[in-house]
Parts: sequence; C-alpha cells; structure tokens
Amino acid sequence: MTRLDAILKRAIDGAVLTEDELEFMLRLEDPAACRELFAAAYLVKCREVGKGVYLRGLVETSNLCTRNCLYCGIRKGNAEVRRYELDLDEIVAGAKLAADFGYGAAVLQGGERSDARFVEFVTEAVRRIGELPNAPQLTLSFGEQTLETYRKWRTAGAVRYLLRIETSDPGLYAELHPEGTLEGRKAALFRLREAGFQVGTGVMIGLPHQSAAMLARDVEFFRTSDADMIGMGPWIPHHRTPLGIAHPGSRAEDLRRLELGLRMIAVTRLQLKDVNIAATTALQSISPADGRERGLLAGANVIMPNVGGLEHRADYTLYDGKAGMDENAEAARRKLDGSLAGIGEFVHYGVPGTPRHYLKRTGKTE
Ligand code: SAH
Repeated sequence: MTRLDAILKRAIDGAVLTEDELEFMLRLEDPAACRELFAAAYLVKCREVGKGVYLRGLVETSNLCTRNCLYCGIRKGNAEVRRYELDLDEIVAGAKLAADFGYGAAVLQGGERSDARFVEFVTEAVRRIGELPNAPQLTLSFGEQTLETYRKWRTAGAVRYLLRIETSDPGLYAELHPEGTLEGRKAALFRLREAGFQVGTGVMIGLPHQSAAMLARDVEFFRTSDADMIGMGPWIPHHRTPLGIAHPGSRAEDLRRLELGLRMIAVTRLQLKDVNIAATTALQSISPADGRERGLLAGANVIMPNVGGLEHRADYTLYDGKAGMDENAEAARRKLDGSLAGIGEFVHYGVPGTPRHYLKRTGKTE
C-alpha cells in the first residue's frame, strides 16, 4: 500500500489526520494520485453529507469598504472602483429571486463597514427578506463587527455568517492586512458563535509566501475552531492591488492555484467530514467550463450563484477575470443544472441545506 492509500484509508475510517499527512496530500502533483485523493473525498462527502448540491443565491450589496486588504479589488485605496450601494428594494428583489428559483438560501455580502447607518440598513434588509413568502434562509458576510451588531443581525433573522480567516498564519496575515489582526479576526469568529450563528470560515489558496504547511495548519484551524461551513478558493491577482502588482501571475500559475485549491477542498473534506464546503466563484473564474464542477467532485457540496442584477456586477470585482460578469441569474441557473447533470450531481431544490455539522453540535433537526 502506498503512503497515500494508507492515509486515505485512515481518513475514510474516521481518523483525524496529522498535519504532516495533510501537508503530504496538499503537495501531491501526480495526476493519478490527485484523482485518488478526489475520489476518496467524494466518497466521504456522499457518506457524511449526502450527494447533491445546496444553492445559496448571492447578492453583492455594496462595494464600499473601510479596509485596505492588499489582495482585494474593492479595497478602500482603489480609486478606480465605481462605488455603489444597492437599495433595500434591490436587495430584497435578489433574495426573492433566490426563493423563486427554489434555492432555499441566500447570502448578502459586501465590503466591511460598521457605522450605525450601515448596521441599521443591514438589519432592515434582513427583516424585510424574512417577511417574503417562502423566505430563503439568510447568510451574511460583512466582515468583523461587534457582538452587539452580530446579535442584532441574528435577532433580525439571519442564521449564517461567512467570515474567512483568509490565512491562519500570523506572519502572512500581518503582511496582507494593514488594518486588523489575526487575533481580532479569530475573536470575531468567536463572537459569531456567541451570537448563535452557523459559522463559516475559509482561506485564499496559493497566496505569495504561503506554504503547504501553512495550508495544512489552516485545515487544522477549521477543525479546531469547529466551523460549520468552509468557503475557500484560489487567490487570483487583481491588477489594481499591491499584491497583484507585485505578483501579476500567469495562466500557468492560475492553473497551479486551481489544482491546489481542489486538493485543499479534498483534504478539508477528509479531515472535517460533515461540514458544508463551497465550490467558489474563484474556481469557476480560472476554469469557467468546469471549475465549480471539479470542486464538487473533490468534496464540495454548496454553490453560490449570483442572483443580483447585472448593473453593478462589474463593480464588485475582487480579482481579475471574475466569472459571471454578464450572465443573468436565470441563464446561470439553467447552465448550472446542465453541467451538474453532466457529472452525475444535482441540486437539492427548496431546502435550506443546514450544515450537518451544525445540526450535530447543537442537537437540532433543521
Ligand atoms: N468584507 C467581507 C467580504 C469580503 S469579500 C469580509 O471581510 O468577510 C469575500 C472574500 O473574497 C474574501 O474573504 C477573500 O477571501 C476573497 N477575495 C478577495 N480578494 C480576492 C482575490 N484577489 N482573489 C481571490 N479571492 C479574493
């Protein structure tokens, strides 16, 4: 038996793998070995969370941001961005479209702000979406906030929150984030738990100065922080950011980051087992024809199709070449149904798809 066979067998049997073993798998490059890794992760996914995909309709509510993360296209310092804020009606319309499509869940995401007007605005959006017939379950993703704000949004009716740790490595985190600290980000994840959210986190994959050992420690961070959901994808350079200017990259590097991203999904599935894992837009952006589909076959079970209008799509450009810029929600949905059928997968329509991990840790049933 090869070392890989032995590790995969232990993972399938339920063992918690060592950091060394995680790193070994993240370093695999041989295509046959990678196929074996993905097949094992797919098997664990089907056993632990079932076959099929849960959809969350994504509304990108605003690109106004108070932060200057070195990799992000909508960072405050990027003066070329045309800044926008959707109004309440536009946001509710996006969530309604998600409900009408039978997606069962929606996500509101935007730049980070914490002024009182913004906090009230989000609270009102959550309330109004909750009043929709067939209201989709709501996820928020607006960065670090106080416990009071998280509680307010939870009380208004939001049930999930996405806050990527971005990287769990203290040195790399500090390099990329002029404001905020890794400890502050971790504390925000604890506050989300305290406020009663189902909590999602994640990282960017293939960042300059990021090693396979760091990614293995990221997976251990996901496990030990008891995350319910994981969203991660390859880092993709944006030409108007300090990181993208210093490391403009190439097609070959994008493809390497895509492969590493897929291995990261598989390794996370093998180690965490019962969490929801997203096949993200960044995978699709590098490989429009099959990036997300390959994510699903490597162990992911969630996709977040954009349900916002087309008017501001291009203004929410986190990285160059972001997928779906000119594709309306209806066209995206039809294409997705087709491509999933092509890989033997399917959508669970009309259900919220609460993470199995959350149900187990709380003893709830839905
Ligand atoms: N303000 C919110 C949402 C951020 S945007 C927050 O702080 O959580 C959502 C995610 O996009 C980020 O968490 C980051 O991981 C990812 N992202 C930003 N720039 C990126 C880039 N250049 N390549 C890939 N992913 C990027």
